[in-house]
Amino acid sequence: MTAAQPAALPAALGIDPDTVKGFLHPEEGARLYELARTLAPAGPCLEVGSYCGKSTLYLGAGCRDAGRLLFAVDHHRGSEEHQPGEEYHDPELVDPASGRFDSLRAFRDTLARADLEQTVVPLVTSSALAARHWNTPLALVFIDGGHSREAALTDYRCWAAHVQPGGVLAIHDLFPDPAEGGQAPIEIYRLALASGLFRELPGTRTLGVLERL
Ligand code: SAH
Ligand code: MG
Repeated sequence: MTAAQPAALPAALGIDPDTVKGFLHPEEGARLYELARTLAPAGPCLEVGSYCGKSTLYLGAGCRDAGRLLFAVDHHRGSEEHQPGEEYHDPELVDPASGRFDSLRAFRDTLARADLEQTVVPLVTSSALAARHWNTPLALVFIDGGHSREAALTDYRCWAAHVQPGGVLAIHDLFPDPAEGGQAPIEIYRLALASGLFRELPGTRTLGVLERL
């Protein structure tokens, strides 16, 4: 992957991305904004893995500026690494009433603060369930859900086929060097390339970008 030109930072975000918990570099966010804004006129966009809405903020702003919608799939129960005792656990995201991890309240707060409630359609369920009756071609699919091999493969199988020709499949957390991070995201990136259905566009940091032929 070659480095892309850093996209101009979106003035239209409405809120400071630093006020949203999450796992996305501002340059990756700016790229997502630019992709959504340019691709969304051709159809709706969809992300898998919203967490507290940091990526949603950028993608949603791009969709709003294009007058289109973003579907945001997340069961909001966290990935493996967000569970109590795991590396990325955040105790502030445990619902005191149920004792369970729950990022939905924080996510809704982000949508409200960023004025995205008329742009983002939350699908509070697993990727597999959300995909079961899905039949709508998508201009952009952003995969940033569970990072186990099984979760990443499921996301790839569920959503890659819905990217319409000319659309983009973007995958987060690509680490060519296994010492730097888990290999499941880059494995599905390579699967997509090997399918012959996509061609590589320049990536941004750990964000891989594939165009559907
Ligand atoms: N894009 C976010 C980070 C996502 S973290 C950001 O910009 O900060 C990964 C998210 O994927 C978590 O919120 C977790 O709940 C969700 N997730 C993990 N496995 C999932 C699955 N099978 N279906 C739906 N969501 C899932
Ligand atoms: Mg990620």
